[in-house]
Amino acid sequence: MIGCQCDVCRSTDPRDRRTRPSILLEISDPRPSRVAEAARSVLVDTSTDLRAQALAHDLRRVDAILFTHSHADHVMGLDDVRRFNVMQKGAIPCYADARTIADLRRTFDYVFNPSSGPGGGIPQLSLCAVAGPFSLGGLEFIPVPLLHGAREILGFRVGTFAYLTDCNRIPDSSWPLLEGVRTLVLDALRHKPHPTHFSVSEALDVVARLAPDRAYFTHICHDLGHAATCARLPAGVELAYDGLVLSV
Ligand SMILES: [Zn+2]
Ligand SMILES: [Zn+2]
Ligand SMILES: [Zn+2]
Repeated sequence: MIGCQCDVCRSTDPRDRRTRPSILLEISDPRPSRVAEAARSVLVDTSTDLRAQALAHDLRRVDAILFTHSHADHVMGLDDVRRFNVMQKGAIPCYADARTIADLRRTFDYVFNPSSGPGGGIPQLSLCAVAGPFSLGGLEFIPVPLLHGAREILGFRVGTFAYLTDCNRIPDSSWPLLEGVRTLVLDALRHKPHPTHFSVSEALDVVARLAPDRAYFTHICHDLGHAATCARLPAGVELAYDGLVLSV
């Protein structure tokens, strides 16, 4: 937190140094013939910190981008994906719901409505409206509608993995989409209730109902120190941290 002197903001534990929420899905397909032109590296959200995250974690490819929603912390790094356009010599498909697409078009008007023709240092993107499950890299991606306050946003499920950031309620119709999830990444902002994010106890209720093998809390604020909070969480539940790598 800018200007904060609390124990977590001053912590020397690298797991307390948190940039904005985003994940990268790297798809490895045991059938080599299918890998060639398929999406192998799928980024979820283009956070404000995308450039620093890409440098810190040696990100070399982005074949597709999924957007959960259009809040600033999830989209404001979009301009930096133009480096991947250059390296990959092509446009990057972006998947989002209709509202997020409209917001991206407005927020990044210079990208989607360039006055001087294409090229000239702007990202090359193709926007794809998500209205149901879609296929990427040989896998089925299932959008999971979530409530983030009054706003509907998207979580994503792939196989037995689900990424549900920025939410404080799972609508009745979305619970069946999450049946059988074994690795869950879920919003848990802090202990105190919040109007648009799950608290830790609310997130634990979701974990109890879905019963995944393991759950990782994300979108954590500075109320939650990594080590102290993890020590109090039940077995199989922990806080995520920048650079965490999971195999699913
Ligand atoms: Zn602080
Ligand atoms: Zn949000
Ligand atoms: Zn957010």
